Amino acid sequence: MKAYEKNIRKVEPYVPGEQPQRKVIKLNTNENPYPPAPGVTKALQEMNTDRLRLYPDPTASSLVEELAKFYHVNPDQVFVGVGSDDVLSMCFLTFFNSEKPVFFPDITYSFYKVWADLYRIPYECQKLDEKFHLVKEDYFKENGGVIFPNPNAPTGIYEDLDVVEEIVAKNQDVIVIIDEAYVDFAGRSAIELIDKYDNLIVVQTFSKARSMAGMRIGYAISNPILIQYLNDAKYSFNSYTMNQTSLICGVEAVKDKAYFEEGLRKIIETREWAKTELKNLGFQCLDSKSNFIFAMHPDYDAKELFEALKKNDIYVRFWGSERIEQYMRITVGTREEMETLFAFFRKYMNK
Ligand code: PMP
Repeated sequence: MKAYEKNIRKVEPYVPGEQPQRKVIKLNTNENPYPPAPGVTKALQEMNTDRLRLYPDPTASSLVEELAKFYHVNPDQVFVGVGSDDVLSMCFLTFFNSEKPVFFPDITYSFYKVWADLYRIPYECQKLDEKFHLVKEDYFKENGGVIFPNPNAPTGIYEDLDVVEEIVAKNQDVIVIIDEAYVDFAGRSAIELIDKYDNLIVVQTFSKARSMAGMRIGYAISNPILIQYLNDAKYSFNSYTMNQTSLICGVEAVKDKAYFEEGLRKIIETREWAKTELKNLGFQCLDSKSNFIFAMHPDYDAKELFEALKKNDIYVRFWGSERIEQYMRITVGTREEMETLFAFFRKYMNK
């Protein structure tokens, strides 16, 4: 071993879902099957590339202001970053500095563990109940901060806002982060609680409901004090996180509320139909309120099914990890994509 090895920060990285570069039926990373708002395409076509010579606005003010308008908050209550992964990572760095463990569910977004390890933050996973719901009392113990997604990933289970509120209310000595990557497909957002609780941060993304995973835009909404702390950390790290193209396209996406809402309606409709189809095929699926369905079949091994699907150019997500060994996560695609998936299942199962 080289002497310098002992000074290297070693981490076990997050493993992102596969991104095949050829055309497949891609139901593995919860992307939106529909294109971004027409205004985004138009803005890209009309973009003045001379602007790319210059650094972008470090405050991302155009996008911050548009988001503030959309959510009826002040611009000093909005922080934007390079996807919600960037925003969440900044939140871990900024807010989780206690000796006490940060709490998150045992089955959840696997990046949380990775950031905790990277930043040397102690953490303790709280077990979801047998129906994959949070056990709120587990979060009332002393801790160094709390984070969970609502709806949770990869289960798709949404906790009612009163459960979320109770966890926030019982943890006023620490910061509570609600990761709402999928909330637009679900129900009420915790954004409505931010004026009531100064320890609450809500994080959302353009990657799912706004069809812009490729643009990498995420944001946090909170009170001006916590947003200032996030900005201080960001400016100590990299001031120009948001590129010029993302800023322009992000603004256009937020402006078109009607397109956004119509996209949500289509996905929710397909999700509900797909849940019924899966059940008819003998799958057991959780009551997802997200843009994906977490499902298992009592008669077929999930890993074998996952591999058979892949051989047929249908990509879904499978982990094989503890408590979810037999589950697959299937992103809700277009009706046609889902029809192809179900046709494959029928053939595989000789139905
Ligand atoms: N939170 C959750 C729960 C997610 O599933 C994802 C998507 N992988 C993210 C955050 C990050 O999404 P993005 O960085 O694309 O905004």
